[in-house]
Amino acid sequence: MLRLYTHASCLQHDPGPAQPESPARLRAVLQALDHDRFAAIDRVEAPRATREQLLRVHTPEHVERILAIAPDEGTVRLDEDTLMSPGSAQAALRAAGAVVAAVDAVLGADGGQAFCAVRPPGHHATPDRAMGFCLFNNVAVGAAHAIAEHGLKRVAIADFDVHHGNGTQDIFAREPRVLFISSHQMPLYPETGRADERGVGNIVNAPLSPGDGSYEFRELWESTLIPKLHAFKPQLLLISAGFDAHRNDPLADLRLGSEDYAWITQRLVDVARAHAQGRLVSTLEGGYNLLALSTSAAAHVGELLEA
Ligand SMILES: [Zn+2]
Repeated sequence: MLRLYTHASCLQHDPGPAQPESPARLRAVLQALDHDRFAAIDRVEAPRATREQLLRVHTPEHVERILAIAPDEGTVRLDEDTLMSPGSAQAALRAAGAVVAAVDAVLGADGGQAFCAVRPPGHHATPDRAMGFCLFNNVAVGAAHAIAEHGLKRVAIADFDVHHGNGTQDIFAREPRVLFISSHQMPLYPETGRADERGVGNIVNAPLSPGDGSYEFRELWESTLIPKLHAFKPQLLLISAGFDAHRNDPLADLRLGSEDYAWITQRLVDVARAHAQGRLVSTLEGGYNLLALSTSAAAHVGELLEA
């Protein structure tokens, strides 16, 4: 069973026309999934994350600061890339809440898979800082929930966004119950993610070089990263699904196509099937060319639906 979590509030976070992370991104993804091929998906309205859920990975100061920023109009700039509009705090609560609800659902009696079509994205948000379009770290909130509420001992996060998930790494660098595996372009924002950043042995960073494409990406995952996931035997697999390693993405220089996203999804579904009774939650991170994003997300969700 595949569930799709989203909320209309996620379209109300509007950083402004100069920002690539736009409401049009989510509209494009939802439009691509509004198709007969996806009729079997169970569509669920995302709840808001609670403070308790956010405080498992963020400082109280960070949570209160984000929730207190509510401009009447226009935007408030938190850093060069990260802005908040009147609807941003609610969008951020729904984005994190989607992953929590999805974790609860797949760890429930029915099991299955879930895709969270949400924004703002999350993987750059650190314990105490919003950055890189991200306010709360949605995937980390979900992983912490699986540990705290469901008692899991092994949760894996696979991050194939073209940017390094520095926030997720910061949050879990000393948490051996979480394995964080990331492929990403280097050099590139946020300039972290070297292979020697290993946490307590639970962080696996696999940089790719500008210009790398399908062959290098698949080789890296097949020979190095997928075996690490199998060795960890996760009880739940979370995916930070960014589609900005696509060759047409304007923010980076890798050369993937939508068929590569279908491929990596199949491989990750195999990991979840082998160790986690198929239990997998994927959440949207980046992807800034609307056509590349929507075709890649559809390829990803199509494979989850086959799972
Ligand atoms: Zn990205």
